[in-house]
Amino acid sequence: MNEATAPDRPFAAGMYDYLLGGTANTAVDRATVEQMLTVLPEMRQGAWANRGFLQRAVARMAGEWNINQFIDLGAGLPTQRHTHEVVRELRPDGRVVYVDIDPMVIERGRTLLADEAGTDVLEADVRDAERVLTAPETRALIDFDQPVGLLMVAITHFVLDKDDPWGLVRRYVDAVPPGSYLAISAPTADKQSARIRDAMLAGLAKTPTPAVERSLEEFSRFLDGLEIVPPYPGAEPAVAHIGQWGAEDPVAADDDGSRWWYAAVARKPS
Ligand code: SAM
Repeated sequence: MNEATAPDRPFAAGMYDYLLGGTANTAVDRATVEQMLTVLPEMRQGAWANRGFLQRAVARMAGEWNINQFIDLGAGLPTQRHTHEVVRELRPDGRVVYVDIDPMVIERGRTLLADEAGTDVLEADVRDAERVLTAPETRALIDFDQPVGLLMVAITHFVLDKDDPWGLVRRYVDAVPPGSYLAISAPTADKQSARIRDAMLAGLAKTPTPAVERSLEEFSRFLDGLEIVPPYPGAEPAVAHIGQWGAEDPVAADDDGSRWWYAAVARKPS
């Protein structure tokens, strides 16, 4: 648990869990979020819109594009209708490896998934792609000769430019065969004032995983060489805001929290 390992420090996973109404968070996670909410009231909307994007993207991958194995990078807690639950509704044989750096997420995740065959939790830094891709937990569940759903949802902002996030995404994409899909979301400062951006980054700077925000141009580079899926019916293949992606009413779904985040799903071509 966070309380035991770092009682005086917030963790991104616990803060996100608190925003989603979960109980796997500490007093310092809650206090940090509450303080950020006074400046950034739309942060809770943003967390829900992001989780909704993940759920809609996974449902399309599993239901429409026949993907039945997923690597969920920077997964957070496997609660609040997380990847394996969405996959299992459509593909009872679906397999999911959750990867996270936070020991609390790993401990809780292992307990929660103990009876869920076809799932596992890997404690790893996603920046070490080689380790993630070769770990026994990954190799036991993922067949790299078959299409894979790569989930990089709300994780690349924890990879600073000095760690080459674009090269990192490429390493994961290179490891999976054509026909695989990447779902990716990341916060942006494009639609925010500097005051809002600074408050968000200051909150995450208190955690062991500081973050950055990226422009549309920087986000789009994650998708180089991939075929972007139109985010909703009638749309061009393009990056959208998280609330819009897969939404029945993309205009209504694009609330203040949604506009903080870019999202895309893209296919690795043959
Ligand atoms: N992907 C989930 C979603 O979007 O619903 C959860 C996102 S949560 C905001 C970010 C997660 O990334 C946290 O659980 C945090 O511990 C994890 N994380 C941050 N940096 C990481 C790293 N370098 N390696 C692995 N996990 C990391």
